[in-house]
Amino acid sequence: VPADPVLAARGLSARYGEVQALAPLDFVVGPGELVAVLGPNGAGKSTLLRAILGLVATGGEVSFMGSSLPRRNPAAVANRGVVLVPEGRGIFGPMTVAENLELGSWRLGRDARERQRRMGRVFELFPRLKERLGQAAGSMSGGEQQMLAIGRALMADPKILLLDEPSLGLAPRVMEEILETLGVLNRAGLPVVLVEQRAPSALKLAHRAYLLSLGRLAAVIDPREVQSHDQLAQYYFA
Ligand code: ATP
Repeated sequence: VPADPVLAARGLSARYGEVQALAPLDFVVGPGELVAVLGPNGAGKSTLLRAILGLVATGGEVSFMGSSLPRRNPAAVANRGVVLVPEGRGIFGPMTVAENLELGSWRLGRDARERQRRMGRVFELFPRLKERLGQAAGSMSGGEQQMLAIGRALMADPKILLLDEPSLGLAPRVMEEILETLGVLNRAGLPVVLVEQRAPSALKLAHRAYLLSLGRLAAVIDPREVQSHDQLAQYYFA
């Protein structure tokens, strides 16, 4: 566990009304780390992301780069550079690829130069988006839409990127391509929190993994110590 984390949640819990969906846990991301959040359906992975972002009722405290992250104030959280790529991608289907990307950088206002610089960076990572700038986002393949969702998040110039199951519904080859790109971003220094059900793929990239089960932290895993599927299954069914 990193001594000097960029993101640190202490005793973080979440509830929906009266229902406690996440029992208190500590969660940290160190500088340049890619941290995976694993667990079966309904384990609380999405809820953990929402709790970090302050989108649900939470207990405990979340700090980012040394000061506390506001609760129930998504705009302020985004201003701090904490950016989510939501499950189901959240792109605007009828709008073009270019328009979706521009939306990601709306905080820039009229700074066209900086917007172009960020777009250039997105096209380096995802050349296919450049070829499809004028196309309606909803008419692209699932993999391309996921690239667009990540590209749009990058247009906000994140200091940390949170992704909720980017592989959902994608063919294995497309999924690997997307995860590889996350690895590239991470190796360039961007901290990443990656929620995934497909544990083996996520563990290949992750520096650390948190395993959730039934709304609780079941284990913190060092990927280098997971040698086999069997061993991973033991964590899941412990
Ligand atoms: P999945 O992979 O299916 O999205 P998950 O691990 O992300 O699973 P969560 O979506 O965080 O799980 O859900 C955790 C628990 O909280 C589940 O029991 C779910 O039914 C419940 N839950 C999620 N959202 C709400 C909500 N808005 N209101 C009430 N309960 C909710």
